[in-house]
Amino acid sequence: METEITAAEKKDLLERLLRGELPDDSGRFGPFGGCYAPETLIPALERLQQGIDRYLHDPAFLQEFHDELTQWVGRPTSLTIATGLGKCWGAQVYLKREDLAHTGAHKINNALGQALLARRLGAERVIAETGAGQHGVATAAACARAGVPCVIYMGAVDIERQAPNVQRMHQLGAEVVAVQSGDRTLRAAINEAFRDWVSDPDRSYYLLGSAVGPHPYPFLVRELQAVIGREARHQMLDIADGLPDVAVACVGGGSNAIGLFHGFLADESVALMGIEAGGRGPGLGDHSATLASGRPGVLHGCYSMLLHDDQGQVQETHSVSAGLDYPGVGPEHALLQAIGRVTYTTATDDEALAALRECCALEGILPALESAHALAGAKRWAQDHPGRRILIGLSGRGDKDMPTLENLPQDLPGSRSS
Ligand SMILES: *Cc1c(COP(=O)(O)O)cnc(C)c1O
Repeated sequence: METEITAAEKKDLLERLLRGELPDDSGRFGPFGGCYAPETLIPALERLQQGIDRYLHDPAFLQEFHDELTQWVGRPTSLTIATGLGKCWGAQVYLKREDLAHTGAHKINNALGQALLARRLGAERVIAETGAGQHGVATAAACARAGVPCVIYMGAVDIERQAPNVQRMHQLGAEVVAVQSGDRTLRAAINEAFRDWVSDPDRSYYLLGSAVGPHPYPFLVRELQAVIGREARHQMLDIADGLPDVAVACVGGGSNAIGLFHGFLADESVALMGIEAGGRGPGLGDHSATLASGRPGVLHGCYSMLLHDDQGQVQETHSVSAGLDYPGVGPEHALLQAIGRVTYTTATDDEALAALRECCALEGILPALESAHALAGAKRWAQDHPGRRILIGLSGRGDKDMPTLENLPQDLPGSRSS
């Protein structure tokens, strides 16, 4: 690997991270991160950085964000003692319930925070891209609430596959632009959204959906999602009478995981585990396990781990959950893996589907397919560590996944008859 880090450097990087010194001024998390954006975008990114410097830790802005999280999003979200899963796994299991947040997932924390920031910055319109449509729905809702019009770029193929989410965006007042170029999915949508932003950087705000992309987005999204881990830590001390032995979250771009992990980074006794999509298996193009099997490279403005071949071509990815189906990952996760603070493993499609079924049957909670990967990874950990306390970030609800679940072959572990 090009990014070999010595033991002394690892210790130093963790200490700097805990002191709040990362990302540094150049947007780096150690060797990862940075800003590899086209020249035309640099002024817009610099303006965003100035907006963050001015507002993100401003008491009036934080109060507004907090009030909206409470009144509109429904925070704090519950911490649920999962007695059924706990008995079945031989562990004490706690679920941080982002599925109960408005619009059904953690994505709203970020969308709301950035929509409020866009309004402060005087943006006349918000631009966003969406793949499966979850970030599009959250952005449409947050922009309606903030009173800023929004345009959502979405690949034509995805628009067909995700019709209910497109209708939700329309109902919430968003303009949805069908992208006919390139692969007509998320990658093409990102390119079109960037193009729009470049052509109108003064009036527009670009609302990115995960802890990825050029600096300062990975930092901004992490700060807005850190509410998950802050709440969960308080709730564990309150309800469970102590910290968890491990905190587990699924990792796509990495926003829900970084939000949960940040609450516990300084707690040496708390192991942290990120679960990526193992898909159909380890073969080329069959999974989206960026950290577990990728290599460093640049994608969408940022140096991080990446699934690409020797020619630098980005690999095809697969996951049963659309939200984890992305060949890149946020740079802070690449650092956390490199310094050994977080362990990243995978759960396959089948393991996630089985975990989803189990959570439905034993807890009366239908988790998102993404979140089911965290459940599957946590269950495996429980088998190796009997009787321990496990905190799981349940990133979203599974109602959106009904078409996928209904269409499964009957012999798969998620199907209705199994
Ligand atoms: C989008 C999504 C994810 C993956 O995104 P991250 O940025 O990795 O959190 C996970 N869970 C749900 C429910 C999602 O909608």
